[in-house]
Amino acid sequence: MKKLGTIIVLSGPSGVGKSTLVGRVRQAMPELGFSISCTTRKPRPGEQHGVHYYFLEPEEFERRVAAGEFVEHAQVFANRYGTLKCEVLDQIRRGSSVVLDIDVQGAMQIRAAAANDPELARATVFVFIGPPSVAVLERRLRGRASDSEEQIRLRLEGARRELACWNKYDYLVINDDLDVAAEEMTGLFRSFALRTAAIPEDLFHE
Ligand code: 5GP
Repeated sequence: MKKLGTIIVLSGPSGVGKSTLVGRVRQAMPELGFSISCTTRKPRPGEQHGVHYYFLEPEEFERRVAAGEFVEHAQVFANRYGTLKCEVLDQIRRGSSVVLDIDVQGAMQIRAAAANDPELARATVFVFIGPPSVAVLERRLRGRASDSEEQIRLRLEGARRELACWNKYDYLVINDDLDVAAEEMTGLFRSFALRTAAIPEDLFHE
């Protein structure tokens, strides 16, 4: 049976532990695909082009926007980010599921695009990762010693804006205890292979 892979659109505010959780799920599900985004931000120490992001100059990013190469793109803080169609569509057509770690603006663009695109509508699910409370999130953000007070204030403001959108998603995972959240998320992602929307309509034809 030829299944369509699932596009797992994953969002959550800065400081919620998204990267750590995604790392845990990757260990448990090595078959899961990940979309490498394009960004105009500069690489942080240890980040590699083509592994963590495709790091592009702003002009190259704009050229790709104009060429219609992105499923979605958005400005997050001072930088541009975008998901390439080719990163996602080839994988799901081959039957692999793919995770998109993107912000709320980008996720909502994909929701809107899916309203006019039946393949995208069949393929996408929306998962939000939340903190146990705003106070806990603030404590976690302040725990990152590398950030200045101004950076913390900006991140908190952004986090509050993102948190307000949790109910626009299909699923909510709360990252209180990391082990519990990782287990919940792995179980959730595994269940996506059983979605009827992913199964060809002619399944039971004679
Ligand atoms: P960072 O610069 O810390 O890697 O990511 C900052 C934010 O940008 C995160 O919330 C991340 O989810 C979001 N982001 C990363 N890639 C994309 C993308 O392709 N599209 C959108 N809309 N957001 C992205």
